Amino acid sequence: MSSVLALARAELLELEAYQPGQAGNEDGSLVRLHANESPWRPIGDDSRAGLNRYPDPQPPELVARLAELYGVDENRVLLARGSDEAIDLLVRGFCRAGADGVFILPPTFGQYRTSAKIHGAKIHELALERARGFEPDEQALYELLRPEIKLLFLCSPNNPTGGSLDRSFVERACERLAGRALVVLDEAYVEFARTPSLVPLMEDFSNLVVLRTLSKAHALAGARCGALIGDPDLVSFLRRLLQPFALTSLTVEAALRALAPESLRTTGERVRVLLEERERLRRGLAGSALVKRVFPSEANFLLVESHDAERFLRASLTGGVMLRWFPRERELEGCVRVTVGTPQQNELLLQSVAQA
Ligand SMILES: *Cc1c(COP(=O)(O)O)cnc(C)c1O
Repeated sequence: MSSVLALARAELLELEAYQPGQAGNEDGSLVRLHANESPWRPIGDDSRAGLNRYPDPQPPELVARLAELYGVDENRVLLARGSDEAIDLLVRGFCRAGADGVFILPPTFGQYRTSAKIHGAKIHELALERARGFEPDEQALYELLRPEIKLLFLCSPNNPTGGSLDRSFVERACERLAGRALVVLDEAYVEFARTPSLVPLMEDFSNLVVLRTLSKAHALAGARCGALIGDPDLVSFLRRLLQPFALTSLTVEAALRALAPESLRTTGERVRVLLEERERLRRGLAGSALVKRVFPSEANFLLVESHDAERFLRASLTGGVMLRWFPRERELEGCVRVTVGTPQQNELLLQSVAQA
């Protein structure tokens, strides 16, 4: 057993995976009278697999394409219904209710806290301070780490602040937590960052887990498909905690289309457009009288601090644009998150704000 699994909930290690009993039919030549499915497709179903059939829980073709995309062996990839499900699986697999805990650095993605609450895990936290440009205070972080903490959630680039963590910061976290906790690095926006993914660090640290998603750069938020990349023993352990048929056939087919070479080329071009637009939007917003500052961003959004956030939001809504604000986050008072859209959408926002 790898040292990573020594941290998992011991009572789950013996759990048997759900066996759909489809082995031996890889070429699809056998007649399926084993799964109580309908023998006919539903009306109007033009999917490849047929929606009358239960899907493969971890379709090898999609696992292989994602492994290739992320530059890892296939046994390091776990498919999930978005990284949201991967976050939940990690908390489920590693935190005993009322005993173990997670560590988060808010303001950050809300799902880490929500999953921890759902599973009764204790939440330890250190605020990213606006006065420090939302950079984590590393010394303070290490002083707060307790033995019951099983998962350290790091988000890079961080939602909603937009900044990336240094490679050396993540390396030190993995080193210090080796044998004690997993470092969960959420790279939902790494396609928009200057610095590359830290997936290769896994060669050195078996306690590093990276979350990737097709929801953002690959335009598949509605399909719900993400991947957890980690130690092969961890992947096979978490696979046993997954819902029996986590991914729908429609999702798998949409994901395979998004990963075809011509789709990846289009995705690359779109990312380049968004990066140019991010800079244009940043300059435009920074020039607005309502805006105090725009925080540097490595993602497909900008965090804007306004002199008058309510007026800023009202002006954008009057112009027909929805933005996100964070009334309950102390460190984000007066801040608004703006997703980078098409050139026309961004122009509309700039004009709306200019008319405030
Ligand atoms: C959007 C987002 C995700 C969501 O991922 P899904 O794959 O859509 O579940 C994960 N992490 C962060 C930080 C995000 O902002």
